[in-house]
Amino acid sequence: MRDKKLQARTAAVMLSAAMAMSAAACKGPAPTDATTAAQATAAAPTETTAAETTTAAETTAAAETTQAQKETYTAGTYTAAAPGLKGDVTVEVTFTGDAIEKVEVTDHQETPGIGTNAVDKLPGQIVESQSLGVDGVAGATITSEAILAAVADCVAQAGGDAEALKHVEAAASTEKTAESMETDLVILGGGAAGMTACMRAEELGLDVIIVEKMPFMGGAISISGGNQVVMGSQLQKDAGVEDDSVQSMFDDFMKNGADLNVPELLTLYAENVGATSDWLQAQGVTFDTESGLHKLAEYTYDRELAYTGSGAGAAEAMRQAIAATDATVLLETRATELLTDDDGAVVGVKASSDSVDYTINARAVLMATGGYGNNKELLNEEMQQALYYGPVSSTGDGVVMATAEDVDAATRLMEYGKRYPNGIEVSEGIAKSTIGGNIAAWTMSAILVNSEGRRVVNEKASNRTILETELTQEGQMLYLLMDEETFSVWKTKLGGAGISQEDIDGYLELNGSATPVFIHGETLEEVAETAGMDPETLKTTVEAYNGYVQSGSDEEFGRAADYMTMEIGDGPYYLVEQKPRFATTMGGLVINDSLEVQNTSGETVSGLYAAGEVVGGVMGDDSPSGANNGWAVTSGKLAAEQIAEALK
Ligand SMILES: Cc1cc2nc3c(=O)[nH]c(=O)nc-3n(C[C@H](O)[C@H](O)[C@H](O)COP(=O)(O)OP(=O)(O)OC[C@H]3O[C@@H](n4cnc5c(N)ncnc54)[C@H](O)[C@@H]3O)c2cc1C
Repeated sequence: MRDKKLQARTAAVMLSAAMAMSAAACKGPAPTDATTAAQATAAAPTETTAAETTTAAETTAAAETTQAQKETYTAGTYTAAAPGLKGDVTVEVTFTGDAIEKVEVTDHQETPGIGTNAVDKLPGQIVESQSLGVDGVAGATITSEAILAAVADCVAQAGGDAEALKHVEAAASTEKTAESMETDLVILGGGAAGMTACMRAEELGLDVIIVEKMPFMGGAISISGGNQVVMGSQLQKDAGVEDDSVQSMFDDFMKNGADLNVPELLTLYAENVGATSDWLQAQGVTFDTESGLHKLAEYTYDRELAYTGSGAGAAEAMRQAIAATDATVLLETRATELLTDDDGAVVGVKASSDSVDYTINARAVLMATGGYGNNKELLNEEMQQALYYGPVSSTGDGVVMATAEDVDAATRLMEYGKRYPNGIEVSEGIAKSTIGGNIAAWTMSAILVNSEGRRVVNEKASNRTILETELTQEGQMLYLLMDEETFSVWKTKLGGAGISQEDIDGYLELNGSATPVFIHGETLEEVAETAGMDPETLKTTVEAYNGYVQSGSDEEFGRAADYMTMEIGDGPYYLVEQKPRFATTMGGLVINDSLEVQNTSGETVSGLYAAGEVVGGVMGDDSPSGANNGWAVTSGKLAAEQIAEALK
């Protein structure tokens, strides 16, 4: 039971057929085609007669041409690079005449624990299957695409047919076996909630199995901004805020959530997030105390910190903490169905990997499968319109499994998701966030304007206020207006969101002719005209704003003077689209304050608990900054404690 298991299988995310070929420089041995080789042989001095020389050379040339025709590649080692999530991914590929002998990723900056899965797995799969048609590694699509594109480039350099290789089917997976397991607690999902629950349950002496459908544990926190509410912790006190309170956090959250929050869950959260934060720190999930508490419009007291190394740093620390326990981790294994007994109690789960069908009998099941942002069927029409930027894994499996007939779990607030006003549409329906750049840009001279070129909101207002304003504008969007000085800083702050300098150059080249809209021009008139705004209106807006900077008072929208220290200066000028984006869903399963799932008749489903984003209602219709990570870890820890108590 306590053996560690790593299930290796090819992940189930299909790459898009059109892989972007690398535009980056490539180097490799100069191709030596058959003719060149034959000519070199023919020219070699021999001691035979002229007549004989001709015959021998012809024979050699013919033989080598035949040989070369049979060969698929020009043997050698080739190098190419293609853009990954965080910059170029460089590969080195060695070919024999008829095979891809070795693929190695020699340079990359991809996210540890996510992109690195593709770096570790794909090279071997390509060699094993002699194909570029292998599936990308789930959750690491962009890195997978980069590796496949760079290898395709090398194939082309070696004279091979990369297109044909994309259609070579990878080896079929082996036949499945059935396996039955017993445990105290099976945790479905290894995100922040599931991993925290595992760490705590192990500490409390439970036998734990985590079932995780992706090739890695981490979930949303791995790609999150890595901010967390730490209200009531020693960390917050040490950072200088000693008089924050459960009541203050409760009031702020209710206000932000339009009073739709479930009071008893919010109280449970506020009473426990401080102790959870200090406990996490002791477990090795540390916070960036040097940068200190963040100032946010949503909060009466400063109560948010970032993790050291951002969300990816927190996820890695959690993985390490779990690796040091006896927990069994089944990766690339999807939980498919809850098992119930005759009384309707949940007694385990069915789960499945490529090679094994598991039946896991457990004394308790913790649902920690995250949100449903990536499942249009579970979203209402309004949310379907918002751009998505969350993890591929957020497909609402927990809601689907728990609402199945035999379990009949209740759900609430399924129509809400946390929308931010600052997405750029990088492909249809998919966003990336500019928030990192915006935070820097507000300290400079950036403003928000609508499609008429008018300011309509305080740029330093809460996300909710800006979003609500944005939703009332034409096209439900705003533009970020920046001068050259602000833009040159803004664009350097987007790497964490996976927007590279090359991406930005590409968007600027489009100059508003396609999404994402990145309009640029030497003058305000020029950008206004390209965006279809009245140039005089935009100029008037800028003059008025610069006047507020001079007087130190934003008479129209009340932007704080601390954030109005620079006038909008010289061009070139830039207008960047700002659209609603979301990753995190607010609805989900109904639980009581012991984190037990409730059914549609209002009764407790015995044996089934839930934690993290799969739980509905804690935040109301919107969550303030740092709240979701805080809830995931707090509810994960509390669930483990409740389960340990119940199993005594
Ligand atoms: C880009 C981004 C930025 C964010 N920034 C912040 C921030 O700065 N601060 C903040 O507070 N919140 C932030 N959030 C939200 C926050 O990170 C999440 O709400 C939180 O991490 C959710 O944790 P979870 O464990 O409940 O769910 P998840 O992290 O989604 O984990 C669920 C896990 O379950 C697995 N799973 C799903 N279905 C199955 C199945 N059938 N079988 C097995 N495994 C399954 C998934 O693969 C996943 O690993 C951000 C989210 C995103 C996407």
